[in-house]
Amino acid sequence: MPHGPNPLRSIAIVGGGSAGWMAAAALANAVGRHIAITLVESDDIGTVGVGEATIPPIKSFNAALGIREADFMKATRGSFKLGIEFVGWGTAASRYFHPFGEYGANFDRVSLEHYWLRERQKGDTTPFDAYCMAWALARENRFGPPAGSSRDVRSTHGYAYHFDAGLYARFLRDYAEKRGVTRLEGRITDVARAGQSGNITHVTLASGHRVAADFFLDCSGFAGLLIEGALKAGYEDWSHWLPCDRAVAMPCANTGPITPYTRSTAHQAGWQWRIPLQHRQGNGHVYCSAHISDDAAEAVLRAHLEGAPLGSPRFLKFTTGRRKRAWSHNCVSIGLASGFMEPLESTSLHLIQTGLERLLLLLPDRNHDPLNAEEYNRATANEYARIRDFLILHYKANTRPEPFWQACAAMPIPDELAYKIKHFRASMRLVSPQDELFRNPSWLAVYLGQGVIPQGYDHLADARPQVDAASHLQALRAMMRAAAATFPPHDAFLAQHCRAPAMA
Ligand SMILES: Cc1cc2nc3c(=O)[nH]c(=O)nc-3n(C[C@H](O)[C@H](O)[C@H](O)COP(=O)(O)OP(=O)(O)OC[C@H]3O[C@@H](n4cnc5c(N)ncnc54)[C@H](O)[C@@H]3O)c2cc1C
Repeated sequence: MPHGPNPLRSIAIVGGGSAGWMAAAALANAVGRHIAITLVESDDIGTVGVGEATIPPIKSFNAALGIREADFMKATRGSFKLGIEFVGWGTAASRYFHPFGEYGANFDRVSLEHYWLRERQKGDTTPFDAYCMAWALARENRFGPPAGSSRDVRSTHGYAYHFDAGLYARFLRDYAEKRGVTRLEGRITDVARAGQSGNITHVTLASGHRVAADFFLDCSGFAGLLIEGALKAGYEDWSHWLPCDRAVAMPCANTGPITPYTRSTAHQAGWQWRIPLQHRQGNGHVYCSAHISDDAAEAVLRAHLEGAPLGSPRFLKFTTGRRKRAWSHNCVSIGLASGFMEPLESTSLHLIQTGLERLLLLLPDRNHDPLNAEEYNRATANEYARIRDFLILHYKANTRPEPFWQACAAMPIPDELAYKIKHFRASMRLVSPQDELFRNPSWLAVYLGQGVIPQGYDHLADARPQVDAASHLQALRAMMRAAAATFPPHDAFLAQHCRAPAMA
């Protein structure tokens, strides 16, 4: 894997949160012991300790590392995730599911949603969720991996995981250390740069120990110790579009069945996550400090916990945005060091994954050709912006009465998002000028779930009288309900395949 005439001999990873250990595992897997990899983390500083819900591509991250799903689920006390239930977004009474996977199966060349809208205009009140296999399973607390041929509705859902962030880092640490990664514990107090190139030469720990490397990964979390502290890469602040700037997190005991989905519940000035694990529920309230105090935000969280609180509340502050240059000189920032968007669609761990995939494609040699950084930064900026716009839609498309939500509904939004909404409102057209993580089903879920109902549907639907859409839609609903009943309860699936050992 080391390439070019002047290959890298050493890489130092600064930070041992999810980003640091995902990086260590991915690099150790890709370059073996050909490049010496050292990871430095500080037990005193600790990690952010949240980050427990994921999206489906994480399966390919684990698969690339050769990790077996059942081993990983046991080790992280994980559960399965079919999507996110949004409660109180749109209006205070709305409830919808953002599923992983597809709606349908389609029964015609005109997409299902257009026939759904036509029936709605005739008076059918069936929610769009009713045509989604992931929801058919989730509402019954059932789970199993997709099965059958692509024509079978049982193949149309996707899934991801919920897991304990601390246990995930621990699991990846074992993986990485077995493959030769050296771990050093200690607080970094100095970052040294070469006079001429400006490249980082080494970091120094409080003990005086120096760690030199050809290339550095800044996984130091919000601190951005290298990328900002030393290299001053700059930060683009997006708080005017995504105004939540704090979170308070507090786990609680499980009370009922382990649901195979995340729940996001909107409150007066933010929203609350509920993430079910085998041994507890992760909860947190993400909020806008201009509209609610820390004490009030904690009170809202406590009032909505389903089980007995476990531990004390943990407060976090953040500024939504991204590092202007995620890669600068001989350093690439990964994880919170490179930027942060709130966990509404569980995208942060995914951005770590894609950052690492991009880095491996663009791995430099010791000549540090700036073209590598240029391409990395271009692609990263694009990926962040596409996710950002999808998140903004959740805030923009609301009709809640509270001042926070009204301000969100009134805010100016990025041009590309405005363009998309305009097309959808007019004719249910889903335009996507660029390749993006969230595809048509995701956009459909949020638009329709939050009350953005288009004026018109695809005209082609009316030119196809041979298609009895109402019957097809009814049959599809019945087929999904019947198919869901063939899957086991989520708890039973976990018990059979992924039950974690009892807590010590
Ligand atoms: C409220 C909230 C909820 C979230 N929920 C989700 C979610 O559901 N899904 C999701 O995908 N993501 C979520 N995230 C994001 C996710 O938690 C992070 O992306 C992920 O944990 C990676 O964090 P990190 O490793 O970059 O930083 P950290 O966990 O902060 O780790 C930083 C590391 O750097 C080390 N370090 C820092 N300074 C020094 C120093 N001077 N010397 C030595 N070491 C140092 C620390 O000790 C630590 O090891 C959430 C984030 C927040 C804030």
